[in-house]
Amino acid sequence: MQFMDVSPWVTQPDDLMPSLKGVGRADVVIIGGGYTGLSAALRLREQGVDVALLEKDYCGMGASGRNAGHLTPTIGKDVFTCIKTFGEERGVALARFGDKAVEFTQDFLRDRDIDCDYAPTGNIIAGVHGDQYPLLEQSAAIARKVGIHMTFLDEAAMRGRGLPASFRFGILETVGGHLHPGKYVAALRRLVIAAGVRVYENSAVQAITEGPALKVCTATGEISAEKVLIATNAYTGPTLGLMQNRLLPVRVSQFMTAPLSERQLAAIGWPNREGIYTAHELLENYRLTADNRLIGGSKWVHYAFGNRLAEGNRPALFRRLAGVFRRRFPELHDLEILGFWGGWIAVTLDFLPLFGVSDQNERIHYSLGYNGHGVAQATMMGAASADAIMGRPWDELAVLQRRLWPLPPEPLRWLAYQALIKPLEWKDALLDRKIG
Ligand SMILES: Cc1cc2nc3c(=O)[nH]c(=O)nc-3n(C[C@H](O)[C@H](O)[C@H](O)COP(=O)(O)OP(=O)(O)OC[C@H]3O[C@@H](n4cnc5c(N)ncnc54)[C@H](O)[C@@H]3O)c2cc1C
Repeated sequence: MQFMDVSPWVTQPDDLMPSLKGVGRADVVIIGGGYTGLSAALRLREQGVDVALLEKDYCGMGASGRNAGHLTPTIGKDVFTCIKTFGEERGVALARFGDKAVEFTQDFLRDRDIDCDYAPTGNIIAGVHGDQYPLLEQSAAIARKVGIHMTFLDEAAMRGRGLPASFRFGILETVGGHLHPGKYVAALRRLVIAAGVRVYENSAVQAITEGPALKVCTATGEISAEKVLIATNAYTGPTLGLMQNRLLPVRVSQFMTAPLSERQLAAIGWPNREGIYTAHELLENYRLTADNRLIGGSKWVHYAFGNRLAEGNRPALFRRLAGVFRRRFPELHDLEILGFWGGWIAVTLDFLPLFGVSDQNERIHYSLGYNGHGVAQATMMGAASADAIMGRPWDELAVLQRRLWPLPPEPLRWLAYQALIKPLEWKDALLDRKIG
């Protein structure tokens, strides 16, 4: 089982930017070079702001260079849980927020002419066993009632679309699709550098100190600034303030196959190439790439005691993922899995993103906690962060305002995570056993 340290999507760029050395100044310092930080940096720079972006490794080394590339409007655990938890009005507002994030990102890709193999296929929340039918059907009825962009696909509709046979029925999210995450983050990085943002790579921020100006310090330098944006998502370390008590870094694994042959493509069908996530409590995700490989994974996730970034090379887990893949795609029994990788998503207690300012003087902004749905959300919320820093907050983000209790300290945090996740794993295992 080949393990990839980062992912098949990104490698260290040839034009790695210098690390921060000495003392400097900027109007705004952004910490983190993923979709959030890069999107914010571009928007600020294009308004004439002097921006410095500090990245611990290289831009795209975090989740933005490791994800599965589903451009999805999914928000929270799912929109139906949002409606149940927060009520119809707020749940629908959250769904609209998710749709807007996808539309914003699609427009962004088009307007900037970003080539990242974007395929606007939509994504399907697919049922693999009859037990999942009532929930999906009811969820689709709610979606229809409140006007969310989703369509129910019964068994006939799924077969009519030529979807692989294991995916029996489902809900199609009609906005979004999938893209090449590495091409996307590399293009963003190039745009940011070309726009004149001072990007420092290999520059891990160790502290932010408050005074008349904010000072952002690395091991070899410091920059003072009027404003700071924390865009470190699951990779947020203990030095970046209260964020650590609001986020759980959870490890998610993925795999990539060899390219499918013409025969294998014909065997599975899937002519429209929709992204697929299963309707399990802990979903499986599948999609095809532009060069006909299959990407899949998720399902079993890990939290490591003390918010550590959990060990990623887990051969036993990879074998289980491979086993599930073989069961879902029996037609592809001879298709080789080339390797596994993973990364960390930032999970919040209510599965909604965190956006705001963390100090009394409203100088330290943050945008993180996308709960594994950040391709669209991080792109849009990076831009919204830039506007908030410029004193122009977006009305749409009001729906994310809430009081979020801090996570309990260890060992309670770890125990609470296990108490939450284990029953979900058991429920999924029971369902999978029924399929045989
Ligand atoms: C395996 C996997 C699959 C996923 N699949 C999907 C999907 O299909 N669809 C979807 O919508 N979302 C998906 N996600 C989630 C999505 O990738 C993230 O939500 C999104 O990339 C977050 O972007 P970001 O810029 O906020 O964070 P990141 O891309 O994680 O960037 C944070 C950056 O901060 C840097 N950093 C951290 N600490 C410091 C410091 N002290 N100083 C300087 N820099 C620092 C890190 O090095 C990192 O580069 C997936 C995530 C993973 C891991």
